[in-house]
Formats: sequence, C-alpha cells, structure tokens
Amino acid sequence: MIRKRNKILRGIPSSPGISLQRVILHEGEENLIFKYEVSDVEREEKIFNKAIERTKQEIIAIKKRLKAITDPYSAKIFDAQILFLEDKDVILKTINSIKRGKNNAAWAFNHIVHEVALSLHSDQNVFFSDRLGEVDDVVSRVIRNIGGESSGICDGIEGECNLAAHSIAPSNIALCPGKKVKGIATEMGGRTSHTSIVAKALGMPAVTGVQDLLKNIQNNDFIIIDGSRGVVVINPNESTLKTYEERARRYRDYVKGLVSLSDIQPTTIDGHTIELSANIELPLEVKSAIDFGARGIGLFRTEFLFIDGIPSEEEQFKTYRHCAEMIKPNSVIIRTVDIGGDKLFNDASLRDTNPFLGWRAVRVYIKEKSILRTQLRAMLKASAYGDIKIMFPFISAIEEIKSLNDILGKVKRELKREKIKYDEHIEVGIMVEVPSAAILAQEFAKEVDFFSIGSNDLTQYTLACDRGNPRVADLFRPLHPAHLKLIKNTVDAGHSQDIWVGLCGELGGETLAIPLLLGLDLDELSVCPTRIPEVKSIIRHLTLGECHEIASKALSMASAIDIEKYLTNILKEKLKDMDEILAEI
Ligand code: PEP
Ligand code: MG
Repeated sequence: MIRKRNKILRGIPSSPGISLQRVILHEGEENLIFKYEVSDVEREEKIFNKAIERTKQEIIAIKKRLKAITDPYSAKIFDAQILFLEDKDVILKTINSIKRGKNNAAWAFNHIVHEVALSLHSDQNVFFSDRLGEVDDVVSRVIRNIGGESSGICDGIEGECNLAAHSIAPSNIALCPGKKVKGIATEMGGRTSHTSIVAKALGMPAVTGVQDLLKNIQNNDFIIIDGSRGVVVINPNESTLKTYEERARRYRDYVKGLVSLSDIQPTTIDGHTIELSANIELPLEVKSAIDFGARGIGLFRTEFLFIDGIPSEEEQFKTYRHCAEMIKPNSVIIRTVDIGGDKLFNDASLRDTNPFLGWRAVRVYIKEKSILRTQLRAMLKASAYGDIKIMFPFISAIEEIKSLNDILGKVKRELKREKIKYDEHIEVGIMVEVPSAAILAQEFAKEVDFFSIGSNDLTQYTLACDRGNPRVADLFRPLHPAHLKLIKNTVDAGHSQDIWVGLCGELGGETLAIPLLLGLDLDELSVCPTRIPEVKSIIRHLTLGECHEIASKALSMASAIDIEKYLTNILKEKLKDMDEILAEI
C-alpha cells in the first residue's frame, strides 16, 4: 500500500484531546496484538512452540473435565481444536514469518491464521468455515500463552505511539501503559462504548467509528488523533501539522486552566447547587476525582477488579476500604460487577451471542450467588470505614430487586453472627438503565434508597441501538425525546417516593445536555473526573428557572435532531466566553 499523505478521516469524537504520534496497528478483536520487530528470532520461535504445546495441554485438560460431566460428543469438539493446533501449514508459516520477517510471535500467528489460513481454507476446510468462533478461542489461548512468556503486551514497542485498530477491548486499554499509548483510533465503537469510557478515564484522546481506518493506515505512519472533533489525519503535511500542534497546545493550556476551577461550586446563577460526583473505573482515579473537584464517587464500576478472574473477598475489601477512606467525608457508590455486555473478559465461556440482551450483571450473579455474596461481604465490611452505598446494575424486574435485597439481608446477618462491623444503614440503589425500570420507576422506588440513571444503556435499549456500533451511531441519540421522557418519569417517580435520583451515564458530562438535566430536576450528576471542572463552569452560566423552561420545551419536541439544534443554539448564546467548548458543540 502506498503511504497516504495528509489523508483526513472522520469518526466519532469519543475522548477529548489531541495526540500527534506515530501509529502502531493493533490486529484482532479482543487480543491486543501489536506488530513489532524482534531481534532474537530463535527465542521468539521457542516462545511460540512452547505456547502451542501449552495450549494443547490446556485443551486436553478441558476435554477431560468435560468428558467427566457431559456426553462424549460435547467433549469431542475439542479434538478439532487440538487438530488445528497441529496444522503444519499454520505452524510452518508462522515460524517463517518469525524467522524471515522478524515478526513477534503473537502477531505472526494471528496474521497467518486470519489473513492466510482463513482466506485459503474457508471453502474446503470444514473446521475453519464452521467454527470461526472456536478458531478465535484457540488463537486467544495461544496468544495468551505467548504473552505469559514475554514480559508484557506492550513491551515490544519502543517510545510513545498512537494505536489504530478495528476494535480494542476496554480491558486492553486499561492494560496499555499510559506513558506509551497516547491516543486511540478505532473502526468500531462509539461515544459511550466502554473502550471510549476507559480512554476518557485515562485521559487518552480517542476517535471511534472511523470507517476504513485500517485500509488507509500503515504501521509507523505519523497520525493525528483529534478526539475533541473526531478527526484522524494520516501523515499530515507541514501546515496541518502546525495547526494541530497549536491546537494541542491550546487544549493542554485549557485543561490546566480547568483544573484551577476545581474548587468552585456547581451552582447556578440563581443559587441552585447540584451534587456533582465522579465516575471511576479504577481505584487510582479516586485521586483525580478529588483533584478535579468531585463531591464524591457517583459510580465505581468494579469490572476491572475482575479482569483476571473473581477477586477474593480480602482483595475487594481492601480496595473498597481504600476508596471509602480517600473520598471521606463524601460517599462512594460501588456498583456490583456488571459482567457481560461489552465489559468482560478473558473467559470465552461467559460470552453470549447477543451479549447486551443476554447473560449480564444481576442475571449472572443471582444464579451464581458466590460472586455476589463475596462482593457484598467486601462492600459491607468496608462500609465500617467510610460512606459506602451499594448499587445494582441492569435491573429489569421487581423480583430482581427483591432477590438482591434478600441476599443482602442474608449477608448482613452472616456478618453479624461473625461479629464483623458494617454500616447497618447502608443505602442501596439501582441503576435505571433498562426501559422497564424507568417505566415502572414508581414501583421500583419503593424498594430502594436511590436511583442512578444509566443513560448509556437506557439510550441503547430505548432506541434498540447498539452503543458500540458505528453503523448505527447516527441513531444513538441520548437526547431523543423518548429517552428524555423516561428520565423525567424516573426523576418524578423517585421524588414522589422521597428518594434521590442521579444520572451516571455519559450524558451527564455532555455540554448540550447540562441545562436539560438540571431542568429535569436531577439531584446528582456523576461524570468522568476530567469533565467535572467544565461541567461546573457550564452550570455557573445558567439559571435553574431557564433550565426548567428548556427542559419543558425539549420534552414537547418529537425529534432528537430538533432538540440537539435547539440546545446548540441556546448554549452558543449562553457560553459565548467559552471558546474551547463552543468549538466542540
Ligand atoms: C450506563 O449504562 O449509562 C452506565 C453508567 O453504565 P455502563 O456504562 O457501565 O454500562
Ligand atoms: Mg450500564
């Protein structure tokens, strides 16, 4: 492919900021597979052979276990996987790629399997054509085992870089050493996909949904990722480069200026103050939440603690206690693990074919009780050291809340018997993120102490629109009137039952949405820590009175696009003095 010059591609602005770096391509959907040159090809070949052998042993062990508990046919599936690992063609071509191309083993193997073997064999070879999912599973295992031998996923990369990929699993973004990976561009994903949320949490500019990204880009091209405007420039010319260097500098200064605003209050001109708290993914973000001026933690997503399997009670207890002590005297809302959807994991056996509508969150652990029991014990124990609130995600039926409350009651009694201290009045809430919960909010409010609206999922389920699929990104509009009506219903229902109602989806940090959310009378907004100063300054440009008018006007409209235009015009007027914000809306 001829290197492109000053090629501009557009995507979805998913995490603000600008990064100018050479690019490393990442292949594979789930595994983070970089291509880099190895100097010791003999060592690399040994690593590869060992990984193949180890994978075979793992599969033989799984087969044995399965044979003992199921019919012989199911266990036979694994014979095909073992045969695949013995496929001479794939093995020899991979070794060739390592030796001649000096390619790292993980990249070489993945490349041979997907680019060469699949295209050559898909017609004749039943294993390949019928079992693409299983091939991916075996490839993942081999690559994991290669990773186990080398010192770390990003270790082959020298210096700083941007990453370009078809898609990157959120857990892999979290594993990228921040000092190396400065920005991300992907073909898949959207503003509220978890990869974008994690990128935002780590302060990495990101553009998602870039069509034909990988067709236009080569390893080591120099690229600009403008996460604020959703632009990727490949091998920029001198004048483009200058423009972006200047923009990047302005953006850095702007962020520095915002940090100095962290002490101001989120209070409107007419004196109404809203609770403004932070969403965190990793415990280390508590510090940045405090630095950026958060009141508390409105959502601690605990999924990252589960990346390598289920953490022990002690491990979880220490983490929750640490967060609660750091954020004192404010509170931390810890959400029980939201397994499934696009959030987990390395364990292929937990994946669903339709994950967003399947085996996710409370549905998993109401059945697999030990995951929940361990997490609740850890949270309760930590509640003796600070203000912790418990939140359950993905509730769709009242019976779920009742079961969860029963389990929580049992765990409390257990701790009492063991004479372990915990906060007996610990608040328990649910995420309202499935339309059924928003519609029945009046009933659900009787069972809990608070609601937190998950606008990412509530939008996705209300509009039947995958939050991570760029093909439908145009339809994914959190300002859709149907979604706004569900938010209003939830707030009104919560207030009529005297419970507080917050919102912790990405919408809470969106400039356009802020007057509207204030006008809908939300009690709390929980946003990415880096968004806090900007959200505060926007709130300080508004009055609650006008926000009420804005909300009622928006609710009377039938089209999301009309609402967006209406809000854009209002904010252009209100935020005249805020250039950086105006550039993004
Ligand atoms: C949401 O759905 O809005 C939410 C906050 O939860 P998550 O993004 O973790 O699914
Ligand atoms: Mg959610």
